[in-house]
Amino acid sequence: MLNKRNFYIDGKWTKPLKTNDFEVINPSNEEPFAIISLGSKEDTNAAVKAAKNAFIDWKETSKEERINFLEKLLIVYKKRFNEMSESMSMEMGSPIDFATSVHTTSGQSHIEDFILRLKKFKFDERFDLKSNNYIAREPIGVCGLITPWNWPINQIALKVIPALATGCTMILKPSEIAPVSAMLFAEMIDEAGFPSGTFNLVNGDGSGVGTHISSHPDIDMVSFTGSTRAGRLITKNAADTIKRVCLELGGKGGNIVFADSYPNAVRDGIRNVMSNSGQSCDAPTRMLVEKSIYERAVKEAVDEANKIKVDVASKSGDHIGPVVSKVQYDKIINLIKDGINEGATLAAGGPEMPRGLNKGYFIKPTIFTDVTNDMQIAKKEIFGPVLSIIPFETEEEAIKITNDTEYGLGNYLQTEDKEKAKRVSKKLRSGIVYINGNAPDSGTPFGGYKQSGNGREGGNWGLEEYLEVKTITGWN
Ligand code: NAD
Repeated sequence: MLNKRNFYIDGKWTKPLKTNDFEVINPSNEEPFAIISLGSKEDTNAAVKAAKNAFIDWKETSKEERINFLEKLLIVYKKRFNEMSESMSMEMGSPIDFATSVHTTSGQSHIEDFILRLKKFKFDERFDLKSNNYIAREPIGVCGLITPWNWPINQIALKVIPALATGCTMILKPSEIAPVSAMLFAEMIDEAGFPSGTFNLVNGDGSGVGTHISSHPDIDMVSFTGSTRAGRLITKNAADTIKRVCLELGGKGGNIVFADSYPNAVRDGIRNVMSNSGQSCDAPTRMLVEKSIYERAVKEAVDEANKIKVDVASKSGDHIGPVVSKVQYDKIINLIKDGINEGATLAAGGPEMPRGLNKGYFIKPTIFTDVTNDMQIAKKEIFGPVLSIIPFETEEEAIKITNDTEYGLGNYLQTEDKEKAKRVSKKLRSGIVYINGNAPDSGTPFGGYKQSGNGREGGNWGLEEYLEVKTITGWN
């Protein structure tokens, strides 16, 4: 059993002020493998105090000094790359090859990209050449960063790196379900030699440390990734102190498959939604299929879902792992049962355990067909390997159904008609639209419309979230 009870506060691994043990479970075998502590208000206060003191000097560092620290961090990250993959594979059930090639790699690419952006980023500039005014961008201050379990290091890197890059100091509260990768990241920060108090980590749950962070008077900004439910509570708790709140929340992405889509579009859509066991906020969980190809698409979708293997995370190879926890498992299974009760056709998968597995939170890749957009399975973010297929007849209808959700994070569309692709992408109300499976470049902004959140992470947009903007007149 790993002992991970201490917090990282003011450059030191520090005992919690009150004992409050919490077991971290390996979802592949339901066994605990690490113990962390859930922090108290006093632990949170100690970390905030350290961050507040550290801000005095860190905000005065030059861009070059901060680039230097981040480059050291990148070296340490690469050195401990495999440990990072193993931590995430254990704590959230990502198959080890996927953890290595996708999860850990995403963390590295965020560090690399932010270093690149920071090198080019202009913090200060004359308003325009004729003006006597000057615009200064300054770090907002002490940041509270709250992250989820589904893309652990990806989310941490998207917050911690731009906060450090812009001269902010911080307290990170990773998900209590998947905290081990975050603690390894804190060790990396320590090894890279960042000044004490710049980065602090306190473990805890939402009602404890999460709430203390959101309402803390000495925290200037909260950046949160997680459920829309928690996003609402954080916004309310932050209101009294008028802190900046940046939210990356849930999604219910539509994937419009037009009759003229490229040959593998349906199969790629299945692979995409099932990847990470369906636990991605921008997963294309509603596949909208043009009626003229509906039967063929359903056949391909079912065939592809049945080909996907489900197995323990420690095994190499191409398969999906378990979902993260018993809570998530029960929620997903109940939603699958809701789908059956609502009258959708269960075309693949279902609520039983996958064959050959009798322990662990494993769910079969599941497909519902003949779904209507008012069913619970089409409305709720299931956050598991479950897809709803919905038929449509016209372009307008496809756009209307896709936009008919409270979310607006990622939508997808598949067509070989370039003009149609551009036209439809502009009509979809979401922070990102993926045309024909093209991946976004690193440094492009990521975030949601509507109840998928506010603000953008990544690239220059990610840096700007952590900055205040000041106008200074009479500069010359
Ligand atoms: P969650 O909201 O339960 O927890 C996320 C984090 O918030 C955890 O650290 C948790 O301890 C903390 N938290 C929970 N309640 C809180 C509260 N009241 N105050 C402060 N902190 C609180 O979500 P989860 O189950 O860990 O993650 C899954 C959710 O996250 C999904 O809905 C998913 O779509 C969303 N997500 C969104 C993005 C994005 O970029 N938009 C990325 C990843 C995950």
